[in-house]
Amino acid sequence: MTAPDPFLSYARRADRSDGLAHFRSRFVPSDGLVAYFDGNSLGRPTEQSVERIQRFLTQAWAGRLIRGWDEEWMQLPFTIGDRLGGVVLGAAPGQTIIGDSTTVLLYKLARAAVDARRGSGARTEIVLDTDNFPTDRYVLDGIAAERGLMLRWIEADPASGVTPEQVAAVVGEKTALVVLSHVAYRSGFLAEAQAITRIAHDAGALVLWDLCHSVGSVPVELDRWEVDLAVGCTYKYLNGGPGSPAFAYVRSDLQQVLRQPIQGWMGAADVFAMGPEYAPADGMRRFLSGTPPIVGMLAMQDTLEMIEDRGIEAVRAKSLELTEFAITLTDEWLAPLGATLASPRDPASRGGHVTVSHPAMRAVTAALWEQGVIPDYRDPDGLRIGLSPLSTSFEETYHGMAAVRDALRTELLNASGLG
Ligand SMILES: *Cc1c(COP(=O)(O)O)cnc(C)c1O
Repeated sequence: MTAPDPFLSYARRADRSDGLAHFRSRFVPSDGLVAYFDGNSLGRPTEQSVERIQRFLTQAWAGRLIRGWDEEWMQLPFTIGDRLGGVVLGAAPGQTIIGDSTTVLLYKLARAAVDARRGSGARTEIVLDTDNFPTDRYVLDGIAAERGLMLRWIEADPASGVTPEQVAAVVGEKTALVVLSHVAYRSGFLAEAQAITRIAHDAGALVLWDLCHSVGSVPVELDRWEVDLAVGCTYKYLNGGPGSPAFAYVRSDLQQVLRQPIQGWMGAADVFAMGPEYAPADGMRRFLSGTPPIVGMLAMQDTLEMIEDRGIEAVRAKSLELTEFAITLTDEWLAPLGATLASPRDPASRGGHVTVSHPAMRAVTAALWEQGVIPDYRDPDGLRIGLSPLSTSFEETYHGMAAVRDALRTELLNASGLG
């Protein structure tokens, strides 16, 4: 008998001592799935969410009909927002709502922020980075064109991310707003949010953090870091489901100062007055526009419950162990095949996913999807391994990484004409 692979033994030991392991059985099984490495792009559904949505359809919607709005639904963007704020954002109540998509909330908050900072007209620049997610770059480009502003680009290293020094070098008396991702979508680099926020504030600018790839996997302390604005997805680590609505955070003292551009009836001071003119509501309601997507915001509550139960620090600790394991297997198995790690090795600079680069990764990803091993691919040559701590085990990570190794080996053999 051959001795078991030491990495497999490690994975089994790590699963046995994992304080979050019991949450795995809450997720709905997926036929033929070997390893899911994309919980950072689309999280998995829980059994509780299936029941919650079914109950909503049959009891709340069918049973209460339009009375449901008064009885409960009108408040949900705020009650779920406050809960999300408390569990994963370090935000006191009254500063977080569930609203539109991340793209739309980003537009609304960024537009409100640059208008508020325009003042005498001197602050005419938005600082952003070249490696931010496309929607962030496109939205800000649109706002700049609309408001006659300039984009000030930071050249980010695609294998790491934006540093405080880089931000300090570009902000100044012309800066209205700084928009960055807390965790870079490609490399998984974790930005120093508190330090960067302070640098932007010292220059008199506002800061908007995109938390899409950090919320639910990396601790966030918006109040303590004195962040102005933030947005983020709920269908990634929060398992809200495809297209579940995003959240927005606006620090309490800024709420009265900001006017967002999509003036809809749900953000008006008196929603049912249906008056001739728009007057914004007090507090976070003014950042709503149209009818809130109620069904879409139900499922995320089941993930918030799990995180609340064990605490975000426990989620982060497991996340770091998972990414460390994936990096070890990359060094051991993939580096000899010519692949390189395109994510930070330093745990303090690493979010919840790891990217491995090799020219064959597009083909490797396609081959893996056929086998129930599901990473994703990001140009130019990155295979992204997202490790969602509530639903991913160490043994699953082991088997997934072994499949990546085998698929890469096969691709290389095929390419050499020997396969
Ligand atoms: C996933 C993601 C988005 C997605 O925005 P949507 O409006 O939900 O499509 C935006 N920004 C970042 C950084 C992301 O990772």
